[in-house]
Amino acid sequence: MLKINKIPRSNVVMSNAELFSEVVGLSPKSIHPEPTNICNSNCVFCPQPSLRRDRGIMSFNLYSRLMDEVFELGCRSLILYWMADPLGDPQIFRKIEYAKVKGFDVFTSTNAGQLTAEKSKRLFATGLDKLNISLEGTDPDVYGKIRCGLDYQTTVNNVERFFRLKNERGSSKPYVVMRTVYMSTTADSVEDYIRKWREQSDQIDIASVANWAGNSDYDTRRNAGQHGIKRKPCARLWRDICITWDGIAAPCFFDSDLHYPLGSVHDHSLVDLFNHPLMVELRQMHQACSFSNHPLCANCDENVARESNPDIKLIDRAGKRISLERQNKSDLEAILQVIPDEFGYKVESV
Ligand code: SF4
Repeated sequence: MLKINKIPRSNVVMSNAELFSEVVGLSPKSIHPEPTNICNSNCVFCPQPSLRRDRGIMSFNLYSRLMDEVFELGCRSLILYWMADPLGDPQIFRKIEYAKVKGFDVFTSTNAGQLTAEKSKRLFATGLDKLNISLEGTDPDVYGKIRCGLDYQTTVNNVERFFRLKNERGSSKPYVVMRTVYMSTTADSVEDYIRKWREQSDQIDIASVANWAGNSDYDTRRNAGQHGIKRKPCARLWRDICITWDGIAAPCFFDSDLHYPLGSVHDHSLVDLFNHPLMVELRQMHQACSFSNHPLCANCDENVARESNPDIKLIDRAGKRISLERQNKSDLEAILQVIPDEFGYKVESV
């Protein structure tokens, strides 16, 4: 079993004081537009199925306008997904290409249910930098109960063909992460999952399930962000601007149903939206470590979980990585027990 001697638990507040020193007059470092919120799957841990806001697809005009505006602000990081599988957007390839030509680093994510041979080839042609493929476990029945609406074997076939085509191209891009959530039903499949996907992918993520700031029907905890430990502010508030498909800015990725809209990009500049009074209030709140002063962050377990259970990255002899995201102590021990010895994994970073 791979041993991690010390799992750090941070009680240090504001250790990155410089990053968090200003709360107003900021520009986003990363843009998070929503290509679409119409999804091909109804996953049990995702708030997407119960969204009450309108459904649609971001127009190319709106998208390109946002990319132009944020590029002028110095932003070079694009995270191109939010509340649905982005391959459901017929213009997704054109959108990635547009961002790549401008000079963005582009990251997107898919459940691979629609990852046909044609879409795989078109993705390669865009110059995409990083792709997250979310595929839970190795048991078809378990998968079907988590990724409702998708078929395990079809998805596996799609992913295997994607890797085959990538090999044939001989391209190292995109960097591919195979991601599974760690829950009671997938716990038994971790070792098989690593053996199945390690060689073809660049990285395997084993992630815990987020509570989506109280928006998840799977994890219905409220006030999950208030368990009392001191912790650092959430970098998202200083880094990301999230825009829904129809052009409304949200304070955070986890405000999935837009309970706290900042305003429309049709009426306001991105800088104004990023420095909206609510953003300033949330940043000040995080600076003061008063996470309970607004319901969005009071209900969110993200910051708590990452502070008390930091992400741990392992690397093996061949340079293949495993990222263990915010696993609690007992789950982490259980996962480390089943990481195969023969690949020589060691801790790369904590
Ligand atoms: S605490 Fe949660 S909701 Fe608040 S900014 Fe951080 S990730 Fe977003």
